[in-house]
Amino acid sequence: MLCVEFFAILFLAYVILSLSFERFLVSRVKELYKSLIPTTSYINSINQAEDIDILTSNLQKLNSEKNLEIELLKKEQDYRREFIGNLAHELKTPLFTVQGYVLTLQDGVKDKKVVKKYLKQTSKGVDRLIYIIKDLDLITKFESGIATLDRKSFDIVEVVRNVFELLEMRASKDKIVLKFDKEYSKQLMVFADKDRIQQVLTNLIINSLKYGTERGVTEVSIEVLKENKILIRIADNGEGIDEQHLPRLFERFYRVDKTRSRNQGGSGLGLAIVKHIIEAHDEKIFVESKVRIGSEFSFSLTLNQD
Ligand code: ADP
Repeated sequence: MLCVEFFAILFLAYVILSLSFERFLVSRVKELYKSLIPTTSYINSINQAEDIDILTSNLQKLNSEKNLEIELLKKEQDYRREFIGNLAHELKTPLFTVQGYVLTLQDGVKDKKVVKKYLKQTSKGVDRLIYIIKDLDLITKFESGIATLDRKSFDIVEVVRNVFELLEMRASKDKIVLKFDKEYSKQLMVFADKDRIQQVLTNLIINSLKYGTERGVTEVSIEVLKENKILIRIADNGEGIDEQHLPRLFERFYRVDKTRSRNQGGSGLGLAIVKHIIEAHDEKIFVESKVRIGSEFSFSLTLNQD
């Protein structure tokens, strides 16, 4: 009899102990869970040890999500570091040019012709700095969502003609012909920000001149697609771009040939701006290219319904 009582007490003690241990465990896990996800209310309904399995799988999920987040933050950090390095490099060259001429002029140059020449070079350096800062400013505005679009209805054929006219001098200097693929006698009214689209066309056509070949051709074509969309293509028969560069081409400061780009006066931001403008319009930009054959950049726009 005494033996039965002893075992009964032992069993009771075991049950009480394991229950309080379970409660202790659940409360510690709840605390831990709350400190990891303070906003969760689900945790209040967890009272039994069986629910711990659900908690464990939730925590595992949380863990893999956090790992992914850390990976992304690391990538962003690398990107930022690379960007700041590129930016410093871009600004350094014109700044040192300006500084060099100013110091020489300060030391005193007697020949008026030389003074004039140095001042002209200084002014060129300052212009380049302003050019880079303006492009950066525009990109930052797009990235932070401050840049707004002023959409209205306009004729895209006329805008292409305007850009051809504006770049005619430069094209003839490079001995490159700017032309349409065919006669566009009718208007094609689109609904977009006219100035920004003119900038897109200017950047793309200037690139076709910068990276084109002498006696080359830059051809613009406009194709009407389904659902009120049009596709504007800017094709050149220039140096082309190797396939490996295409995925990064629209990144800020990404260049295939750094020396050639800088010699041409490029900021390395032209295509990044183009992409931002097109995406702000909820449209798409594409590129196809073959080395020594040429490149084709194209983007979509929406026709005006009225
Ligand atoms: P930038 O011309 O100032 O360097 P962009 O952003 O306009 O900067 O262009 C990025 C790079 O893409 C250029 O440096 C060049 O290597 C390449 N690229 C752009 N357009 C063309 C083109 N039409 N043909 C060949 N390469 C091009």
